[in-house]
Amino acid sequence: MISLPLGAIMVLFVGGPLLLIALLAMFYNFRSMHRPARDRIYKCAECGHVYAFARSRPMDRCPRCGHLNEAVRT
Ligand SMILES: [Zn+2]
Repeated sequence: MISLPLGAIMVLFVGGPLLLIALLAMFYNFRSMHRPARDRIYKCAECGHVYAFARSRPMDRCPRCGHLNEAVRT
């Protein structure tokens, strides 16, 4: 059986997953920087105002009345 000191076990089971998560975060951040932002179209349920934002949020406030609306089309 392979015997490892406690410090090496901690590095393997804590540092390994942390390094993997950090690499994945860097990959997705780098990928989203080079993707053009698409406009999301919203129609306000309160006042009927149609507006678009390039941000990728599922809901956004109407610039006219401030009501939260879901994106109609992305
Ligand atoms: Zn509105």
